Amino acid sequence: MALSPGFPDPMTVVTRFAPSPTGSLHIGGARTALFNQLYARHTGGKFLLRIEDTDRERSTEANVQIILDGLSWLGVTPDAEPVFQFARADRHREAVAAMLANGGAYRDFTPPAEQDAERERARAEGRVVRSAWRDRDPSEAPPGAPHVVRLKAPLDGETVVDDLIKGQVTFQNRELDDLVVLRTDGSPTYNLAVVADDHDMGVTHVIRGDDHLNNAARQSLIYQALGWEVPAFAHLPLIHGPDGAKLSKRHGAQAVGEFADLGYLPEALRNYLARLGWGHGDDEIFSDSQAEAWFDVKDVVKAPARLDWAKLNHINQQYIREADNDRLTELTLAVHQGRGVQVSADRLASLPAVVALVKEGAQTTLQLADLTLFALKSRPLALDSKTQAQLGEETRERLARLRDRLTASKWEVPALEVEIRAFAEAEGIGIGKFGPALRGVLSGGAPAPDLASTLVSLGREEALGRIDDALSQVQ
Ligand code: GLU
Repeated sequence: MALSPGFPDPMTVVTRFAPSPTGSLHIGGARTALFNQLYARHTGGKFLLRIEDTDRERSTEANVQIILDGLSWLGVTPDAEPVFQFARADRHREAVAAMLANGGAYRDFTPPAEQDAERERARAEGRVVRSAWRDRDPSEAPPGAPHVVRLKAPLDGETVVDDLIKGQVTFQNRELDDLVVLRTDGSPTYNLAVVADDHDMGVTHVIRGDDHLNNAARQSLIYQALGWEVPAFAHLPLIHGPDGAKLSKRHGAQAVGEFADLGYLPEALRNYLARLGWGHGDDEIFSDSQAEAWFDVKDVVKAPARLDWAKLNHINQQYIREADNDRLTELTLAVHQGRGVQVSADRLASLPAVVALVKEGAQTTLQLADLTLFALKSRPLALDSKTQAQLGEETRERLARLRDRLTASKWEVPALEVEIRAFAEAEGIGIGKFGPALRGVLSGGAPAPDLASTLVSLGREEALGRIDDALSQVQ
């Protein structure tokens, strides 16, 4: 049957990222979000965001903001406003009411202390929790008695999660308990909320970390109890540290914000994350549109991916090389400012050219800051001890002669290179005899490019001024 224009295509893929704001946006979560976005774009579908803020004790506004900021920095942007789970509690209760009405759930009036005892007994006997109220008539309970609502899970048979990455994962129903879906205080439980939200948001593909694989079986039973279609599942293997152990603090940065602070560009991190557990042949660098064209969630590998800092640095370096100089200048300046470097307007003006000169060698914007520091220093520069030691009388006199010679030179790299070489020849020495001292005088001991480039990037006046300062400082 042809659908009328504007009618939503029932086959449209809808994915979602569903973080709990009980912590910051972790690199694993960021990859999950990215894969959801890639798959939605690949299929011409929609990518949604749901903030799972039902844990009122541990969810914070600050974490919600960190997650939103982290995603937007990374360029992973949902196709609609985020849905907040807690605000939907009434709808979750409605779903529970429907389950009660159709026999998919039952009220359990067991007093809390007895429920605990039953849980202990069930554990000791190696079976799952079932309440006697499963088969009792609720009218036997005193009116208004407190109770929880439990899923009436099937007692036998199997639940198969047909996972797009893991394949068919079979759970024995006798091992799945009668899950509480509504607590005594009327608050919905996690698995119920996820199912009701995914259903209402029209989610067709649940792509998430494989720590939720067991939940997929329980959620499948809830879908069935509600008479709803079970979505497709794809459970992503976790990200491990370089040593193969579960990612933890000792492996370094974990929060997306930390990666930003370490000087990674969002597009580089995005490219790197896309390759954690997925890839397109040997392609290392690819654009967003290539990733979207190539990505299919079924191609995600089964083994956990390992975080590899050297690879990330390498990719970041490629992106820095290609990045716009004005943007890199801004990012670099922000690093300097964060480090408390005072930058005069005059020195700031030299920064874009210096960034362009040194960016090839930078793996991060932190390194870009290291490599541009020499140009931003204000006169007179504090000389490092190595440079001071190099400035013996002979070298000082030599630098004074070189300075006079340079004054007359054209201020361009090739001309200055010729001058420096001719000077060494005229003095009958190698450049090594004065080059390191000159470099130290020009940079204050900070990393700097070759001599001629350093001179040019400082500008004539600043460069000669720095030589003068050094010659008059060291007596
Ligand atoms: N809120 C869950 C988490 O942060 C994700 C639930 C899901 O994706 O179904 O781990």
